Amino acid sequence: MRKIAFGYSKRCNIKCEHCVAAAAAPDNSKMELAKAKELIVELAGAQVRGISFTAGEPLIFFDDIAELVGLCQAHGIYTRVVTNCFWAKTPVLADTCIGQLKKNGLSQLRMSYSRWHQKSVPCQNILNAVQSCERNGLDYFISFVTDFSEQDDACEQYLRDHQLRFFPEPVIYAGRAGSFARQPISTDYQANCCPMNPYLAPNLDMFACCDAGSHFTNTNFFHLGNLKHSTIAELFEKSETNRLYNHIRTMGVTDIASFAGFPAREIIQYRKCELCEKLFNSPELLAMLQQETDAGLNSWRR
Ligand code: SF4
Ligand code: SF4
Repeated sequence: MRKIAFGYSKRCNIKCEHCVAAAAAPDNSKMELAKAKELIVELAGAQVRGISFTAGEPLIFFDDIAELVGLCQAHGIYTRVVTNCFWAKTPVLADTCIGQLKKNGLSQLRMSYSRWHQKSVPCQNILNAVQSCERNGLDYFISFVTDFSEQDDACEQYLRDHQLRFFPEPVIYAGRAGSFARQPISTDYQANCCPMNPYLAPNLDMFACCDAGSHFTNTNFFHLGNLKHSTIAELFEKSETNRLYNHIRTMGVTDIASFAGFPAREIIQYRKCELCEKLFNSPELLAMLQQETDAGLNSWRR
């Protein structure tokens, strides 16, 4: 199923230290509403069946997003909004927003929560939003962003104490978090396959990866093109037929790193996106991997 992360705007009302969507300087870029509506119709025509409104805080532009959600519903597209819940200051305010989004056909609300978000947004807002989703029959979950340090224990306990449905999500060390000190980790030898949903930025650049990959500026490996020059269908096809991307999807970055000569002892010390960055944001390594896509990499199978 074709899905996309839709970056209507990069603007946010808060400035989390770990934000992957933003570099050091603020970025307030935003799509025109008329253009976004055009794109949604084009996305529907390109058989896109899921849109996640993300990047920045989408609900700063509440009326626009509510309208876009309604348009998606009219075209049979599943929608998700990723939000920091700044708008849920009281149960009444939460109900006003959730009621409207539900009425316009929103499929799911994803609430961002972390020790960084909650420096600016009270935990009570998350509770208000959850309770409003339950009252209004809207599906939701909490995305608990963590660096897996002890500092996050209290945050996790809060979610457990209130019996909230949450899923831990690792900090991505890109954007503002690029300068964070890394906690040493050792994973077991996981495949690290990645589904790679595309990301559409407000300036109409489209990337094959909606996370750290849009920051691989040494090689621009995941940059598919810009919708001023290509159609959505063309860029989706480019993403789906790129054989090196398909190796990331099917064999995973761990085996690619092993093929590239990374020692197993070193591979287990990287997070998935960090390993991906080592492989694909280095012009020399990327050139080698591109040359080996249909040769050595293809036969590097169990
Ligand atoms: S992490 Fe989310 S809420 Fe925090 S600054 Fe970035 S976009 Fe805004
Ligand atoms: S592993 Fe690579 S492709 Fe997957 S989300 Fe991370 S940077 Fe993007």
